[in-house]
Amino acid sequence: MKPDELARTLRPPLCPHCNQPLYFLKMSILGCLEYKVEVKNQQLTYDLLEVVEWQGEAEFWCPHCGQTVAWSEDEALKLLTRRDLEVYGAGGSSSDN
Ligand SMILES: [Zn+2]
Repeated sequence: MKPDELARTLRPPLCPHCNQPLYFLKMSILGCLEYKVEVKNQQLTYDLLEVVEWQGEAEFWCPHCGQTVAWSEDEALKLLTRRDLEVYGAGGSSSDN
């Protein structure tokens, strides 16, 4: 099988909740951020300088339905890099463009 043929048979992982393809996830985590604070036009402005410290656990969720799909970087990486081998058109719903 040629590489381009292989690529066409690799499908993105699906969200376990809404079955939409997951090309990326959204993530939130508590953290301590350091900003540079200045006044511009009589308003305080904040420029992010650095992340001082992450606190707690990251949570990753599906961009389609908002359900949490991973609770760690490892889980998120595994989920996003999982590819189900499936030949297009061979039995099933195809929502590919
Ligand atoms: Zn979803």
